[in-house]
Amino acid sequence: MSGKLVIFSGPSGAGKSTIVNHLKSIGEFNFGFSVSATTRPKRENENNGSDYHFLSIDDFKSRIEDNEFIEWEEVYPNQYYGTLKSEVNRITLNGKNLLFDVDVVGGTNIKRQYKDNAISVFIQPPSPEVLEARLKSRKTESEENLNKRLKKTRLEMTYARRFDKIIVNDDLETAKREAEAIVRDFLLK
Ligand code: ADP
Ligand code: 5GP
Repeated sequence: MSGKLVIFSGPSGAGKSTIVNHLKSIGEFNFGFSVSATTRPKRENENNGSDYHFLSIDDFKSRIEDNEFIEWEEVYPNQYYGTLKSEVNRITLNGKNLLFDVDVVGGTNIKRQYKDNAISVFIQPPSPEVLEARLKSRKTESEENLNKRLKKTRLEMTYARRFDKIIVNDDLETAKREAEAIVRDFLLK
């Protein structure tokens, strides 16, 4: 059981990081987390190299030129995110399964490339109001960035049906258990 891809996507604030961090801690899944590159500023609780590779826009763009990404997106205006080929190689060479937290476009893109070797899971908030409240209570975004994120939500929600599975993240413990069951079923089949 190695070299399989599990992709989590959904709007900002849906609970992807919370669920992905939970899955990372489950040894039997043998996950390596694909550390994305981004040009957004680092949050206080994040570490460079384990949460993201934090890059300048110039560095990010030169890596696009050098074909270093499997996929990349300008997820928000002037904020680039991308999956590095080097990450996928590192995790695969270590004999692990790959875990991704990427936006809805990146998620459908990776699934298209890896087909049956990948499963894509959409994390859906119970309602737009709850999503907004959770994002605000996370207290990581400026007013401007919060609005950029909320503005994208409606479009992102239309991607749900393109995913293999949808988890509605209402009660967190239930959502974690659903995620575990989906991953276990996929990795063991
Ligand atoms: P994302 O990675 O999708 O942007 P996060 O995992 O950061 O979302 O979750 C957004 C916020 O909502 C965080 O503060 C997190 O602790 C909280 N959260 C996540 N899931 C739930 C839930 N089911 N109930 C209440 N709060 C939640
Ligand atoms: P955040 O800034 O909240 O960590 O992430 C913002 C959005 O960018 C989320 O939807 C997250 O899943 C997405 N994202 C993170 N890494 C990547 C990546 O490598 N590629 C793409 N396409 N999106 C990413």
